[in-house]
Amino acid sequence: MRSAWDPDKSEYATLLSDYPSFRVEQLWNGLYKESKSIDEISVLPSELRNTLVQQVGNGLTLNRVQESENSDTVKWLWNLHDDKQIETVLMHYDKRSTVCISSQAGCAMGCGFCATGQAGYERHLTVGEICEQVAHATKRATADGRRVSNIVFMGMGEPLANYANVVGAIRRLNTDFGIGARSIVVSTVGLVPQIRMLADEGIQFSLAISIHSANDEARNELVPINKRHNLKDLTEAGNNFYRKTGRRVSIEWAMMADTNDADSDANELAAIAKDMDAHVNLIPLNPTPGWPTVGSSPEKIKHFVGLLKEQGVNVTVRKNRGTDIDAACGQLRATSVEFKK
Ligand code: SAH
Ligand code: SF4
Repeated sequence: MRSAWDPDKSEYATLLSDYPSFRVEQLWNGLYKESKSIDEISVLPSELRNTLVQQVGNGLTLNRVQESENSDTVKWLWNLHDDKQIETVLMHYDKRSTVCISSQAGCAMGCGFCATGQAGYERHLTVGEICEQVAHATKRATADGRRVSNIVFMGMGEPLANYANVVGAIRRLNTDFGIGARSIVVSTVGLVPQIRMLADEGIQFSLAISIHSANDEARNELVPINKRHNLKDLTEAGNNFYRKTGRRVSIEWAMMADTNDADSDANELAAIAKDMDAHVNLIPLNPTPGWPTVGSSPEKIKHFVGLLKEQGVNVTVRKNRGTDIDAACGQLRATSVEFKK
C-alpha cells in the first residue's frame, strides 16, 4: 500500500473489521466524496486515523505548487514515499475543469522531445497514487467553486506500460469519484498489444494515440517504440479499438519545425487519420532542454491545418496553458481549441 486510495472498499472493511461497519462508509465517503486525506476525516476517531495512516502509507507529499497568474492553471510537484517525484496539473476552462495526471514516475519510452522521456524510467504508480492526484486536484477545484469534469492521462509516464494499475484507476475514477468514463482520456505512445486489450475492457473512455510522424522511418527516430510496433500495426489496433468500442480515437501530433511539419507529413497524416476515422490534435511543441528542435511557427501550423482540412480531416490545435508557470510539465499545459482559419 502506498496511498489511502490504494485499498478498495473490501480491503478497508478487512482493515476495519474490529470497528462498526459505518466506519468504512465514513472513511470511503471522506476519501471519495470529500477528497480528504485520512487524517482530515474528523468523524473517525483520531487513534483509528493514526493506525490507518500507518497501514496504508503516506501517499503523496507536497513538494511544490505553482499557479498561473489568473489561477486557472495549478501545477503540483509531489514526492512519493520513496522520494520519486511526479506532477499533476489542474486546468479550469469556461465549462470544464480538467486534471492531467501521471501514471509513472519517469518513462521508459525514450521519446527525445519529451522532458519525461529524457529523464528515463523510475517506476509504475499504484492505483492509489494515480487516484490520489485526482483527489488533491478535486479538493482544490472545490475550493475554486469548480468541479473536476475531465481527466487526461497526459502527465508523466506511458499509461499502457502500467496497464493494470491504469485500468484499475480508471474504474475507481469512474465508479467512486463519479467521473464519466467518456470524460477520461488515456494517451498512449502506441503500445499495440495493450491497445487491443483495452478495446475489450468494456469501459467507455477515450483513447488518444501520439503518432507525431506518419512514416515508419521518421517515426523510428522520434518515437523509438515504433521499431517494435510500426504504424501499420498501430493503425490496425486503433481501428480495432474504434470498431469494438464505438469510440473514435484521436491522434496527437506535436508540431516540430522542419521535422514533421512539411506538406508531405500532412498528406501522410491525413491518410492515417482517414484510415482510422480519427480526429487530429496538433500540439505546438514545448521546448525542452534536451532537444534541439523548436516548435513549428504559427504560420506553418495554420498551413498544415489547412492541408488536413482540405482532405476532410477533423483537426484542432491545442493552445498553450499556464505559460507563466514553470514549463517542466510542458506537454501538460494545453487544451484543444478549434483552429480559426
Ligand atoms: N506517454 C503518453 C502520455 C504522456 S505524454 C504519450 O506519449 O502519449 C502526453 C502528450 O504530450 C503526448 O502526446 C506526447 O507526445 C506529448 N508531448 C511530450 N513532450 C512534448 C513536448 N515537448 N511538447 C509537446 N507535446 C509533448
Ligand atoms: Fe513517455 Fe509519452 Fe514522453 Fe514518450 S512522450 S517519453 S511515451 S511520456
